[in-house]
Amino acid sequence: MLKLYNTLTRKKEVFKPIKKPQVGMYSCGPTVYWYQHIGNLRTYIFSDILKRVLKYNGYKVKQVMNITDVGHLTSDSDEGEDKIEKAAKKEGKKAQDIADFYLKIFKQDFKKLNISEPDIWCKATKHIKEQIELVKKLEEKGFTYKTSDGIYFNTSKLKDYGKLAKLKIENLQAGKRIAIGEKKNKTDFALWKFSKQPGKRQQEWKSPWGIGFPGWHIECSAMSTKYLGKQFDIHTGGEDHIPVHHTNEIAQSEAAFGKKPWVRFWIHGAFLKLLGEKMSKSKGAISRISDLERQGYKPLEFRYLVLTGHYKKQINFSLENLHNSRISYKKLINIVRNLKNDKKQNSKYVKEFEDAINNDLDIPKALQVLWALVRDKKAVGKINVIKKMDEVFGLDLLKKEKIVIPSEIKGLVNEREKARNQKNWKKADEIRDKIKKLGYLINDTGDGAKLLKK
Ligand code: AMP
Ligand code: ZN
Repeated sequence: MLKLYNTLTRKKEVFKPIKKPQVGMYSCGPTVYWYQHIGNLRTYIFSDILKRVLKYNGYKVKQVMNITDVGHLTSDSDEGEDKIEKAAKKEGKKAQDIADFYLKIFKQDFKKLNISEPDIWCKATKHIKEQIELVKKLEEKGFTYKTSDGIYFNTSKLKDYGKLAKLKIENLQAGKRIAIGEKKNKTDFALWKFSKQPGKRQQEWKSPWGIGFPGWHIECSAMSTKYLGKQFDIHTGGEDHIPVHHTNEIAQSEAAFGKKPWVRFWIHGAFLKLLGEKMSKSKGAISRISDLERQGYKPLEFRYLVLTGHYKKQINFSLENLHNSRISYKKLINIVRNLKNDKKQNSKYVKEFEDAINNDLDIPKALQVLWALVRDKKAVGKINVIKKMDEVFGLDLLKKEKIVIPSEIKGLVNEREKARNQKNWKKADEIRDKIKKLGYLINDTGDGAKLLKK
């Protein structure tokens, strides 16, 4: 029995999909104006783990992830510049080239971190028609109004607006005196924004209301519905999305489709903090997977670090933490790769593991179970359990490491082969010692010389 914490109800609930064994899952994806930092990547490791746990439990998961390539403004409210347009201007490139470049790097990071790709990637700019249709529907139902700036959603028309974040609307309204301009309520948000000077933006489209571009939230409602239907099982994202982005996704979707709740389970991942600061791409202080690699760390050592914290607890990232994770991960791999497969399966540890992962994805506990298993001198059937566990961890625990042999070593091996063919054993032994000093052991087999890392 899988239990998941639902932000909507603030409770751990037994997970039941709408149509077993299918599970529809939508994960808010990146805004592709810059590299995704390791904080963003923590959120994708979390949704990857969720997907793996669902699959482990026999569900057939269809995961959809959006690519925000228009409409996300420099402030999460509806002000400021479009992040992609701004980056395109700064880098002197086409908006779509910016989006494609950062998307490519993002997908490479997925691969490095063993994050499985979603079944469907969808770009906001490729779904303009669907977004306009949705705004039209909201207009027909009386949820919208027009300002000089765009078409807005009137949040006062929904009785339960803000239920996800438990927003106290009255307090918000009476709170700080923030200029709301032509908006009717402080919480109202843009569905469609007008281009201030048509022809100046790279990305703009005709609509029934004027030339412009979609607001940030509407893409997620339009695309999730297109691929998963008007009601679906799970929606994920980082915890920062609860008060604005997800709150507004719910408002516009429930208003348009009339299904309540629109999404059954809202599951949010906590932040990865760098030196106690919220990591932000916009501030420029970022740290990427490739930065970690440059410092000699492997991406899976970062994945291991992420798995040591529960997804609902923030992680304070530091190189010291990463270093400790590397030591544990290396130790674990060394033990696991030296185990013999006795073809048995240790059911006690399988049960403990399943109890942990099915208890709201308690991966830190599941890792403790793995450590207890490998340290248990009497336990049998270890390898087969570890195989099952790694379907969820995705840590390549049993993968044979490919060794990349430097060309210098390859040259020495060839030289040694030559010496052996000439029966010059003294020279051959000298070369073997030289290779050993450089960190490799030679094993002469019937198929020729095989190299092992010392
Ligand atoms: P963005 O590209 O800004 O739209 O963010 C992509 C995803 O990363 C969203 O789900 C955010 O909630 C999440 N996110 C942003 N910053 C962090 C962080 N420091 N730690 C974890 N997740 C984050
Ligand atoms: Zn979204």
